[in-house]
Amino acid sequence: MLVRVSYGTAIAMGLVRAKLLAKPTTAYLMTHWPGKCLNDCAFCAQARSSKADWEKLSRVTWPAFKLGDVLRNLPGGNFSRLCLQTVEYPGMHEDVLELLSEFSALGLPISVSITPVGRGLLEEFKGLGVDYIGVGLDVASERLFRELKPDLSWDGIWRFIGDVVKVFGRRRALVHIIVGLGETDRELVETMKRVYEAGGDISLFAFTPIKGTRLEKVKPPSLERYRKIQLARWLLEEGMGGAIVFKGDSIAGFALSEEELSRIPADVFSTHGCPGCNRPYYNERPGKEPYNYPFRPGKKTVELTLRELLLPR
Ligand code: SF4
Repeated sequence: MLVRVSYGTAIAMGLVRAKLLAKPTTAYLMTHWPGKCLNDCAFCAQARSSKADWEKLSRVTWPAFKLGDVLRNLPGGNFSRLCLQTVEYPGMHEDVLELLSEFSALGLPISVSITPVGRGLLEEFKGLGVDYIGVGLDVASERLFRELKPDLSWDGIWRFIGDVVKVFGRRRALVHIIVGLGETDRELVETMKRVYEAGGDISLFAFTPIKGTRLEKVKPPSLERYRKIQLARWLLEEGMGGAIVFKGDSIAGFALSEEELSRIPADVFSTHGCPGCNRPYYNERPGKEPYNYPFRPGKKTVELTLRELLLPR
């Protein structure tokens, strides 16, 4: 059996010899299928109609390795979590169960990112060491969902979030949301609010145009917009969504007192996901200021950004 391993993860565990720019704290793995995904999400390199390089997901290359080699090398990577991502293909559920039973011997907590499955299968995952489920809502706008994720249903994803919360508990459904797919700030904020109300949590991604996909010509979001959405996510998580100030459908600023400002943690602009997930360089080119810091940046950096964001315009 083969399993795909993100390039950074493969370096960290010694399967590939290359220089590592930032060490992944989670091992990012993916089911192996020698074709494209059965679904056709407009932004995804693995989509049915995409002509992108098969090895890619977002900016990241995912070479395939023998499962035995991966299992042997995983302990050397000193990871705090395994994250198994999936693409849709016949027999995928069986492969996931087989992989999980092999991984469970390693004793690490496991996240599985998967399209909606029934509660019975979620229970089976739980029995095999899975404690978080990544849910690919991706599109924060119901208006755009059908066009961008034609094989999945908006309501079906929300039902799935509910099922994950029932099986795994609150904040264990990590809902993936991509900023920059044509949604408004207001849609992003309303969707994030709904996720928290449903008992989930949110992992933000910046849209990354991949050559060969339907959205290859769409521009990624500005860093400024992304920072606003990151701050809005934190405020919603803290029950402080009322501080988000809109002008039309865009975020105009944040109404925060000095005391509230001082409570914003230094990792507000870091990758937010399952415990131990830092996902380095998933959306960004090395050398540029990252959308999601793979570590906790200095308090000064964060303070400066916050002041810039909060300056009246
Ligand atoms: S938040 Fe990170 S560890 Fe959790 S499912 Fe998403 S990519 Fe995997």
